[in-house]
Amino acid sequence: MLEATDGPALRFLLDHGDYRRAVSTFPSLTPVCLASIATGAHPDVHGIPHLVWWNREEQRLVEYGSSFAALRASGLVQGLRDTVVNLNERHLSRSAETVYEALESAGLTTAAINITTYRGRHRHLSPIPGFPPVHGPKRFFFYSVYESDRTGAPIAWLNRSLGSIDAYAASIGRWLVTRDGFDLLVLYLPDYDYASHALGPDAAHEALGRADDAIAALFDAAGGPDEFLDRYAVVLCSDHGQSLVKETAQLEVPGGLVTASNRAGMVYGDDPRRLAQALDGEVAVDVALFLEDGEVVARRDGADDPRILDSFPDGRARAEAALRNPNAGEVLLSAAPGYEFADLGGRHHAGGGSHGSLASSDSEVPMLTVGTGPPPGSITEIKRLLLEHFGVAIAAAA
Ligand SMILES: [Zn+2]
Repeated sequence: MLEATDGPALRFLLDHGDYRRAVSTFPSLTPVCLASIATGAHPDVHGIPHLVWWNREEQRLVEYGSSFAALRASGLVQGLRDTVVNLNERHLSRSAETVYEALESAGLTTAAINITTYRGRHRHLSPIPGFPPVHGPKRFFFYSVYESDRTGAPIAWLNRSLGSIDAYAASIGRWLVTRDGFDLLVLYLPDYDYASHALGPDAAHEALGRADDAIAALFDAAGGPDEFLDRYAVVLCSDHGQSLVKETAQLEVPGGLVTASNRAGMVYGDDPRRLAQALDGEVAVDVALFLEDGEVVARRDGADDPRILDSFPDGRARAEAALRNPNAGEVLLSAAPGYEFADLGGRHHAGGGSHGSLASSDSEVPMLTVGTGPPPGSITEIKRLLLEHFGVAIAAAA
């Protein structure tokens, strides 16, 4: 969609930068991917395993909003708190440094709008009762729930399907650019993903046009696109792709706890080989993954074969990093082409778009850089690129 766009702002950036296709992480689901972008690491380091997972320490399900029905099924108040607060305050590994923490430790000012992985060192209060203080970058704006500055932006939630989330982000982005109020600004535009889930991949032209408008608003605030690029370098990417889905499956594994959503699933329980074998005949499952004697096992059509993973972009590395996440299930599942796993609320996107699997359609992302080093081949390399751009040393892994 980006490569074919005639949106003037996106086309301007494409014409002035270096472009390639890059690879996301696994599962290729937003909370996992955005944690990878923010920390420069896969889930084995940052700890976020899926949209929905079993918290072993607290012995309960965590649900980050697969759908409103899934949030309700997990307990609406708990689900909102997990999505908005606990993901950053509790679930994101302490040893994984975010790009906001790294740059602000070096004395730079970072800003984040709507991105769900935002952990920083500044404490922010919410004007909305029931939302506790969180820690974000110095300039922090989160869906009208947390706002570090009064900007006059409209309420984010007024009409999501008409693009009010991205309009909120554009309004704040314009405010920040007008003041040159940051060294790093992370602007997250999720309305395109929302529309693509409903309409299917390659169909959400109107929503992409609104994303283009949001970027054009930043250009305007700088005095025009050329003036914008005189002042700022740009990294433009997606966190994951999308595939067309037609069929839905409700997974059940005897003796195991299934957490599934979109095109990835996990099974928690003893004896991972037995749990994986229980899904041998399930047409919705393309590959089942588990660890045995410390080694990655990939299983398809009832047979183990590690070469299965070579057919996916970064397949072996992404599968291993997902399995070595301490919060992941014992078995990970990548959905078959055209299939989706129903979530806790029984919801799915059959007839539309979805993502989460190892497949390239879900896992390949556009990656464009303007005024920095060449575009990286993985979303986990964006943090390194940004730190190098600002001349900030990369901390040794914890
Ligand atoms: Zn999505």
